[in-house]
Amino acid sequence: MNQPIYDTIALIGIGLIGSSISHAARRAGLCRRLVGHAKSEATRATALRLGLVEAACPTAAEAVKNADLVILCVPVGACVRIAEEIRDHLKPGATVTDVGSVKGTIVRDVGPLLPPNVHFVPGHPIAGTEHSGPESGFAELYDNRWCILTPPEDTDPAATERLRTFWQGLGSNVEIMDADHHDMVLAITSHVPHLIAFNIVNTAAHLERVTDSEVIKFSAGGFRDFTRIAASDPTMWRDVFLNNREAVLEMLGRFTEDLIHLQRSIRYGDGETLFELFSKARQIRRGVIQAGQDAGSAAAFYRSRDAVGAKPGNAPAGDKPKP
Ligand code: NAP
Repeated sequence: MNQPIYDTIALIGIGLIGSSISHAARRAGLCRRLVGHAKSEATRATALRLGLVEAACPTAAEAVKNADLVILCVPVGACVRIAEEIRDHLKPGATVTDVGSVKGTIVRDVGPLLPPNVHFVPGHPIAGTEHSGPESGFAELYDNRWCILTPPEDTDPAATERLRTFWQGLGSNVEIMDADHHDMVLAITSHVPHLIAFNIVNTAAHLERVTDSEVIKFSAGGFRDFTRIAASDPTMWRDVFLNNREAVLEMLGRFTEDLIHLQRSIRYGDGETLFELFSKARQIRRGVIQAGQDAGSAAAFYRSRDAVGAKPGNAPAGDKPKP
């Protein structure tokens, strides 16, 4: 059991990421009290029933009142409105962070809304599954994953270090990075791969000469893993692409060029080029495994929960992908 790092933590948003923070913080004793807020009464009731928070407040303003650490665990597009709501209710000296998958717009749009007597240290855990909601969280989600912190230049280094210690307590390795660099890296490692999954699943759905039942029946040929990724929450991913537009477009441009190179090699029967490109890709895969960033599932852009051996007690039945 660690020493508590923060006395009271407020989770604004209690879905997969928020509930997993609760499980992992309780596992390691990182705080004395967890309070929360979610948009719907149903999620607040579930969070209380599962013991994720001691109090589930109907407004974000109420939840942050006595919090030493406030974590925004809502879709990126909701962060500005919440910052406007909580700004006059934050405890002096508190740290405000987030878990959003895009960092540039959070630094640019949320930071200036916060009062000067709180610390602002944006963050992004590179860990997740395709599941959503308060019942989908589990304590092991962050174990041996990376969490990237993107503090603006004028952030108090002590506040950043304290948050680093917190994420390490949740099980993560922590890296500090510039927000724009984060967005470029994540565009190619996460955002474009998800876009490809969404697209290939829709392409299959539009085929006229292959039936739906054939697509499902023979999905183990590779398609199945794309369907898992494409089951990810539509609100979250809409906000990711709206907020990381430039970096995603840059990476999509490069991806398209490389795809056309492959297309030409196939058209002209250039087996040598195909073999060389596939061999290079295989090397990258080996690197991912050696770095411990593969959880054993066939294509875990984010992980399938089954692949991490989550304990049933931490992730109660009823965990369903959102439609
Ligand atoms: P989630 O399971 O869908 O949970 C989202 C939570 O936010 C829910 O509790 C929801 O409340 C609440 N919420 C949504 N809009 C709100 C608003 N306007 N005001 C107050 N509460 C609101 O989503 P998640 O997967 O935890 O993702 C949360 C954040 O983590 C996103 O920014 C995402 O980019 C980031 N992230 C996700 C992953 C991943 O794999 N899922 C990985 C890393 C980072 P209700 O339930 O009442 O609607």
